[in-house]
Amino acid sequence: MSARQNSSPLTRQVTLTVLTLATFALAIVVGFGFYATSQADDASLVRQKMFIADGLKDQIASVQREQESVSVWDDAIINVRAGNQTWIEENLSVWMYTYYGHNRVYILDAANHAIHAMREGKVVDASAYGEDQPTLLPIIEKLRRMLAGPPQTDAYGQPAKMVAEDLVSLDGAPAIVSVAPLLPSSDRISQAQGTEYLHVSVEFINNAVIGKIAGKYLLDGARLVPLSQPAGPAAVPLVDSRGVILGYIGWDQLRPGLALVREIAPALAIALLLAGGVLVFLLSRLRRASTALQTSQDQAQYLAFHDTLTGLPNRALFEDRLRRTLLFASRDKTRVALLYLDLDRFKHINDTLGHPAGDELVRQTAARLKHTIREVDTVARLGGDEFAVILLDVPDVGSAEDIAERLLLKLREPFRLIDDQVFVSASVGIALSSGSDTDADELLRKADIALYEAKKNGRGCYELFAGDMDDLLLRKRKVESELRKALEGEGGIKLAYQPVFAADGRAILGAEALIRWGHEVHGALPAAQFIAIAEERGLIGDLGKWALGEACRFAAGTELPWIAVNISPMQLRDIGFAGQVADILSETGLDPCRLQLETTESVLLEHNDTIGTVIAALRQSGICIVLDDFGTGYSSLSYLRRQAIDKLKIDRSFVHLLDEDESARAIAKTLIELAQALKVEVTAEGVETDAQKALLVGMGCRQLQGYLLSPPLEPGQLLALPGVSPADRERSAARA
Ligand code: C2E
Ligand code: MG
Ligand code: MG
Repeated sequence: MSARQNSSPLTRQVTLTVLTLATFALAIVVGFGFYATSQADDASLVRQKMFIADGLKDQIASVQREQESVSVWDDAIINVRAGNQTWIEENLSVWMYTYYGHNRVYILDAANHAIHAMREGKVVDASAYGEDQPTLLPIIEKLRRMLAGPPQTDAYGQPAKMVAEDLVSLDGAPAIVSVAPLLPSSDRISQAQGTEYLHVSVEFINNAVIGKIAGKYLLDGARLVPLSQPAGPAAVPLVDSRGVILGYIGWDQLRPGLALVREIAPALAIALLLAGGVLVFLLSRLRRASTALQTSQDQAQYLAFHDTLTGLPNRALFEDRLRRTLLFASRDKTRVALLYLDLDRFKHINDTLGHPAGDELVRQTAARLKHTIREVDTVARLGGDEFAVILLDVPDVGSAEDIAERLLLKLREPFRLIDDQVFVSASVGIALSSGSDTDADELLRKADIALYEAKKNGRGCYELFAGDMDDLLLRKRKVESELRKALEGEGGIKLAYQPVFAADGRAILGAEALIRWGHEVHGALPAAQFIAIAEERGLIGDLGKWALGEACRFAAGTELPWIAVNISPMQLRDIGFAGQVADILSETGLDPCRLQLETTESVLLEHNDTIGTVIAALRQSGICIVLDDFGTGYSSLSYLRRQAIDKLKIDRSFVHLLDEDESARAIAKTLIELAQALKVEVTAEGVETDAQKALLVGMGCRQLQGYLLSPPLEPGQLLALPGVSPADRERSAARA
């Protein structure tokens, strides 16, 4: 499995979730903090505005109070009436400037004409009033109306204060204007209604005045903001009685919320850092955990679809790939080849060299296969020593065959397994998809059949699936299942017995048991054919055992000197076979010396220790071993020489040719002489004519078997022959 470079989707998902949650939490905290701060600042601003507005009112009130301190005064009336400018200057105008800071003072007579004017502490010509008159007149007239009206009382029943005030703009600057009548402070002076002199005080709302207002409330940066400048949030408008804005009082807004935040900022930063640290720590733990989880998940996924021994795709992944490949191929109108590969004699290697060597062989095979095919192709292990290769985009049969050939060559190179050098071959079945064929199971089945054929045709080669293989295989499968059923007790199989005669053609020396299957569908299937199927399909063990038991049981109840039973070479490869035979003999009560086992020469060619051991054990117990069909295969003369067998049967193909063929005669004669020289018995099988019989007898053959003498017989028929049935003997004994 490749190392994980990037974080897995799971890890990413977990990280993302945690980060989102953390960000969300942080956003809530920050948002709430921000909200609380701005709420606190807003509430404070409302209060600050209130302070300034109140301060402004106080300022207006104090201008009135200061004015009142000089306007209600007997001396003032006396001196104004007398036109005493010096007194007026010292007590009503310049004094107001120096002591209270009023910027302008005008004294008006009953007809609202100025009799005295002061600006910024200097007495100026009374006509200067003319410049301010348009602005001041409405306030003056308001007061005159009040004076002309009936005396008013305030909320407490006291005579109402006779004063009119307003905010105005003089020479473009806002100012407080207060107008009050000069009133007597005692009864000494009388003043008729409508004759009052007026005292007009003007105080500009400049930065000094504003500073005084703001200073009381500890607000910094208080200043006059003219209309031409932006006022900002911390500002209170200067509004006259008509609602016209003349300017603003602005100041540096106090932000207690923000100040608090600033104050706790370092602590907050540390707390955030700590929280961030904890988060990072948790995240890294979480990431590690989720990475581990993902890895084990990946591993499980990998194991589910790969073979642990070789790392190749397993059957599940293979089938999935094949299915997809076929779909794409049918869409792209290309062909896919499926190679089904199986090692020859893998079981043998496993048995002799051990399972670790077997595993190593499978591993190395996998590696060789993988390196021989292209990257785009797939090689999978289907189990045991079975592999499958999917080849994409195969132009024709020839190229699939080329690749199969290449694979076979590669596997023929020696393998080093632990300490041994081993030569292995493999068989390959090839199936090609047709253009629109998308059935993976079908393709797999065809490759399987082709493999089966390759194995049968000698191993170490490949075979291409051909149409008629299908029928053959189906038929074989059918036969196999029927045979299984027959063996399981449904009947249908039985034994026929063909007697073997002495040279005189009359005396019965023994009989050979030959299997028969009278199946209703498959008819009387030739023994050789269904024996071969039983061998291929692993049924021969059971079938052979049954035949052996049946023949021994039959023979035990007859007078036959011996009974011969045919044995498949496969049975001899089973180390337990000798024991099995011994069991059957003791079960049926047949003397081992009366049993002959016939097997073919091919057995002797296998340099197999097991077979040698089994044969030796059988002979040890008194059983005769017969070489059947002698002369058709690679006859092993060394075996004969070592006297490892007891009898040979000259194959009927030589006997058949005896009449016509000189060389067949020579071979038969040689074989008989060879047997005699080596003191091995000899039987001629397939004797069909008198001439054959005469020739064989002439050559010295003493045992004859064939249709001429007797075909294979039903048990009853055999028992009817003279000297076979025990009753027969009793009869002849009685006659004697
Ligand atoms: P085999 O052991 O060589 O048996 C002789 C075959 O020759 C028999 O065929 C027999 O019917 C046939 N035969 C006998 N006399 C003549 C003759 O004069 N002319 C001709 N043309 N044929 C003759 P069958 O019964 O069909 O058996 C064929 C083979 O099947 C046997 O050859 C034997 O190898 C095998 N076989 C039969 N029964 C058994 C069995 O129980 N176990 C095993 N493993 N193989 C068996
Ligand atoms: Mg035989
Ligand atoms: Mg034979």
